[in-house]
Amino acid sequence: MKVPMLDLHAQYEPLMPKIREALDRVLADHHYIMGPQVKELEDKMAAYLGIKHAIACASGTDALVLAIKALEIGDGDEVITTPFTFFATASSIWRNHAKPVFVDIDPLTFNLDPSKIEAAITPKTKAIMPVHLFGQCADMDAIMAIANKHNLYVIEDNAQGIGSTWNGEMSCSFGDIGTLSFFPSKNLGAMGDAGMCLTNNDEFAARLKQLRVHGENPKYYHKWVGLNSRLDTLQAAVLNVKLDALEYWSKGRRANAEYYNSRLKNITGIRVPHIDNRAVSIYNQYTLVCEKRDELMAHLQAKNIGCAIYYPLPLHLQECFSELGYKKGSLKVAEEMGNKVLSIPIYPELTDEQKKYVCDSIVEFYH
Ligand SMILES: *Cc1c(COP(=O)(O)O)cnc(C)c1O
Repeated sequence: MKVPMLDLHAQYEPLMPKIREALDRVLADHHYIMGPQVKELEDKMAAYLGIKHAIACASGTDALVLAIKALEIGDGDEVITTPFTFFATASSIWRNHAKPVFVDIDPLTFNLDPSKIEAAITPKTKAIMPVHLFGQCADMDAIMAIANKHNLYVIEDNAQGIGSTWNGEMSCSFGDIGTLSFFPSKNLGAMGDAGMCLTNNDEFAARLKQLRVHGENPKYYHKWVGLNSRLDTLQAAVLNVKLDALEYWSKGRRANAEYYNSRLKNITGIRVPHIDNRAVSIYNQYTLVCEKRDELMAHLQAKNIGCAIYYPLPLHLQECFSELGYKKGSLKVAEEMGNKVLSIPIYPELTDEQKKYVCDSIVEFYH
């Protein structure tokens, strides 16, 4: 028995006839950059999320860089975010010459701990950037209340949370701008890099559209120095087919999580994911907090079960951010979780036998 972390072959197989047809249409048109399928994807995504404007771009990282630029955050400004996330959350702030200010996380949800945000606000703070980590929304009640009180922007890094909800409302719909990634391992993945910004604000939408094409408008006239971050038509064509399957896949991931919870929740030595009762997770990852994490990982790998550590070294301790002055012990919860978390396969195509094998192997390790 073999259980990979993700099985793209199984994901694509049933969709391949439709995807080939969609790709063939692009190949017949030769309209490779920002063709009509890009607009179609933007319209479909805006409708799915219930947000007015969708602006496709070249990656989830670019979506964050564009969002920060569109809000005119830059030199000397501070952005509050989480240290327990993928690198791009903070690098996008840094690349705009602003300063990431890291606030520790809630040990149960792994998301920004709202009770620690206000202490980090200074006169230079311009925005809060929560991440909906592993597919579960951060506490958007608390974060929006703090942002409104202090007049701060909110950028939702929703690379891992497409279709997740908080109080029944879609992620990406709370803040000023929300961003998505369509990296192949995300819940909605392209056949390469792709990303998107979402906003209900007309002015921000206009700026984002301009910034993704070198800041030009009209052509060859540049108000800002933007990016070259357009979306390939081929990627949009693939995503248009796959978006129709997203809700079905998310349901499959939740069903897998329920099975895992039922088998693993009473085992001494591990803690199953905690989902806030206001949140519906899309389980981009199913992440355990484990004693003897590294030994468990070796045990699972020896049994051909894929598993991964997201994330071993929190961002405040990364070498490239050393000048920010954080030390070991600065953000204890994030550091502790970096030593204890382990994500196991949760993709919707897992078979009953595979799920059982994963759980049996974990039970065996702790007994
Ligand atoms: C994947 C990811 C990104 C970056 O997306 P890319 O499309 O890979 O550039 C940003 N933030 C988070 C939280 C992510 O998981």
